[in-house]
Amino acid sequence: MFWADKIAKEIKKERGDGPLIIRDEKTMSGRVHIGSMRGVAIHGALGEALTEHGVENEYHYEINDFDPMDGLPSYLDADVYAPHMGKQLKDIPSPDGKAKNYAEYFAGEFMEVIEKSGYIPKFYRASELYLSGKMDPYIKMALEGADKIRKIYKEVSGSEKSEDWLPLNVVCEKCGKIGTTKVTSFDGEKVAYSCLKDMVKWAEGCGHEGSVSPFGGNAKLPWKPEWAAKWGAMNVSVEGAGKDHSTRGGSRDVANRIAKEVFDITPPFDVPYEFFLIGGKKMSSSKGSGSTSREISELFPMEIFRLLLIGKDINKQINFSPDGETVPVLYDQYDTIARKFEAGEEDDFARLYEYCQLPSVRSDIPKPYLTRFSHLAYMSQMPHVDVYKEIAEMKESDLVEVDKKNIEERLHYIKQWLSTYAPERYKFEIQETLPDMELSDIQKKALGVLADFVEEHKEITGQMMHERLHAIKKEVGIEPKDLFTAIYGIFLNKDSGPKGGWFLSVLDQEFLLKRLREASK
Ligand SMILES: [Zn+2]
Repeated sequence: MFWADKIAKEIKKERGDGPLIIRDEKTMSGRVHIGSMRGVAIHGALGEALTEHGVENEYHYEINDFDPMDGLPSYLDADVYAPHMGKQLKDIPSPDGKAKNYAEYFAGEFMEVIEKSGYIPKFYRASELYLSGKMDPYIKMALEGADKIRKIYKEVSGSEKSEDWLPLNVVCEKCGKIGTTKVTSFDGEKVAYSCLKDMVKWAEGCGHEGSVSPFGGNAKLPWKPEWAAKWGAMNVSVEGAGKDHSTRGGSRDVANRIAKEVFDITPPFDVPYEFFLIGGKKMSSSKGSGSTSREISELFPMEIFRLLLIGKDINKQINFSPDGETVPVLYDQYDTIARKFEAGEEDDFARLYEYCQLPSVRSDIPKPYLTRFSHLAYMSQMPHVDVYKEIAEMKESDLVEVDKKNIEERLHYIKQWLSTYAPERYKFEIQETLPDMELSDIQKKALGVLADFVEEHKEITGQMMHERLHAIKKEVGIEPKDLFTAIYGIFLNKDSGPKGGWFLSVLDQEFLLKRLREASK
């Protein structure tokens, strides 16, 4: 059974027919790495699955703008941003000077990517949650149950907090930083705090000491109690997280116990999922370009973007190399599952194909003729080739509207891919003059024999050319590798290229003959 169906059934069994709240969040500390889209998509797909299984649900996604800035992304001006370290993301200026604040700048970009994936959660800000007062009861319970929280930390994760530690960070009234304050007491209405110079390594406090109400957005909980408090404040029934949080004694275990023992709520149904690796490595949000959600989303239409995000079982790692074979392979995989679905198969792959589509079109999924991505990429780089005509020939019938739309869409993404991540072997340019290269006598002979064939025939199809090349290998006694490096060399100035027969057949015949004769001299 497809993973989303399986988990939806388990949720239904445990939590009933709803309505259920599904939640996920992302802290807007910088450009969002593509890995964060896995959570977005898993929760989104579960929402769709629950709906199909008759469970009413709503998917809420938190843009966390209430956390402090605790690291400087490498792509920002350190001189400008270092003084803001320790302040809340919502209180830091936007890098472009236009967005409302730092968090909103990065949220805007990320929300566009989410929209592109076709999952449409209801967005809210962490600041709204705090400012609305919805977190206040949990702040009070956490402060009053501080000894219990300390005990849970110690028992679950082994971390020792000192006896005077209170689970709260206050916004310093003098310098506006939240990452630097230590709360020293709570009298039921106000907390006393100090803004310390050296409480954390990444930010410096101003030394102010004060007393303030911890409610209404003046303070926030540290993240493990906060996680549990958000489940209560938002009435969350389903929330997963990356498996790094779900290890034994990890943050999820701590939050679960705080939820039950301090806030008296049932923790949401957990959906721990595996990592999303880029080129075999775990993500790093601070590293900047190369694997941001925006950059990767620009390589795919929605359906294939979804395939990337939900195509693997949640217990398996996704290993994505945008500059390797992953992109063409993903398009091929999509085409394969589309054919399975269209053939009426009812396995997990056909089901996955349905999940790659928007729920609104699942009852009537368009069936365009699908042209292999790599082949289309080659065609798009050939001068004088009428791509649509070529594909109609491959299809052996006229192209209909959905076919044309699909070709147009793929050509758009191919252009994007060729100009960014595509490996060198997929890129080429027909050389206007014969490249300067050494050809052996046997290579020259083979090219001469090929030239004769071209001269003798008015119209040469890819198949004819393919057969002729095969025959020439035997006739001339040339190694296939030597024949093809000669062909790719004289036309592309490269060692490899598209399928030889097809490639030669779509070149202008006069140009082809002239180049073959010139090279065989
Ligand atoms: Zn301060």
